[in-house]
Amino acid sequence: MPRQCNICQTARAIIRRPKTGQRICKECFFYVFETEIHHTIVDNRLFKPGDRIGIGASGGKDSTVLAYVMKTLNERYNYGLELFLLSVDEGISGYRDDSLETVKRNQQQYDLPLKIVSYEQLYGWSMDSIVETVGRKNNCTFCGVFRRQALDRGALMLDLDHIVTGHNADDIAETILMNILRGDIPRLSRCTEIATMGDGYIGRSKPFKYAYEKEIVMYAYLKRLDYFSTECTYSPNAYRGYARQFLKDLEAVRPSAIIDIIYSGEAMKVAENVKLPTMTSCERCGYISSNSICKACVLLEGLERGVPKMGIAKASSKQIEQDAPEVARRGKAVEPVHFEKLREKALNIRKQRMLNAATSSCSKDTALCECTGDSCQ
Ligand code: SF4
Ligand code: ZN
Repeated sequence: MPRQCNICQTARAIIRRPKTGQRICKECFFYVFETEIHHTIVDNRLFKPGDRIGIGASGGKDSTVLAYVMKTLNERYNYGLELFLLSVDEGISGYRDDSLETVKRNQQQYDLPLKIVSYEQLYGWSMDSIVETVGRKNNCTFCGVFRRQALDRGALMLDLDHIVTGHNADDIAETILMNILRGDIPRLSRCTEIATMGDGYIGRSKPFKYAYEKEIVMYAYLKRLDYFSTECTYSPNAYRGYARQFLKDLEAVRPSAIIDIIYSGEAMKVAENVKLPTMTSCERCGYISSNSICKACVLLEGLERGVPKMGIAKASSKQIEQDAPEVARRGKAVEPVHFEKLREKALNIRKQRMLNAATSSCSKDTALCECTGDSCQ
């Protein structure tokens, strides 16, 4: 006999929620999924009315659902946000070029402005040329470091206040496990934070921090969203793969394991006598860094000088350079624009926006308003 939905008690239950085990109907699933994200946003005060938010969009399921849900919630609860799609083209033929086509369709479907920044344009190197140079062992290190900066560069070009990414609960639980296994205390203390300050200027957050991957897939499928599901051609990230498999095994016997690991990670505190790296600005490009030269600049220098192991291997850069065989250069030298320049430009546009906002009155019925100014009395 068909079961009734545990929530509305009227419609037929068609799914069992991976997160709670409840049997519910399609409409109730959409409602609870979206409402949980809304509570994550409001309870953690992720945005302010008027914020310009860049949705890190890759065309994959997480970021496609994120764009759809952000747009839905922004309209439903009158957040007053300006939304943008922000994509990074790493230059991976047969993968990113296809997934960016999906993002371009999403731009039309959701009617959001889109900005694409590419490694080739920012650094002079595509991932294809990096992989030709460094091989397939450390490519994800280059890609991850460059992507983080590329998103911040794109955000400054658009004068955004904040970037949201589609990292879900499974990703965060995996990262916690990886950092515990590696004994990486600084990363462990940061990886559970729902919001960070990014480059010190633009905020970053993960509205899907508590959303299960299975529910995101279910949502995308039931809403018939247009997303790209192929794996990256250069995806050898074996270490994350082990953590992922371990997490899947745990989830199979105890579905709450994902959320339990996140709560445990949040509850961990770094002892006061543990020295954590202090942050400063990169002397070359101005990006936030725990060293005088940031990781992206070191990696880029290694590529330019034909010693791509620089910044990856543990040996000193001098030793690496001595031992290095001649490597043909495949990229072309591009000096990335200094962050100070980008920030200065963004700040000017921001000042103008604030001036414009000060002369317009506050709309009080937004779910995010905390304003106590005269215009709200
Ligand atoms: Fe980049 Fe590695 Fe991800 Fe591919 S799998 S997009 S190379 S980080
Ligand atoms: Zn730098």
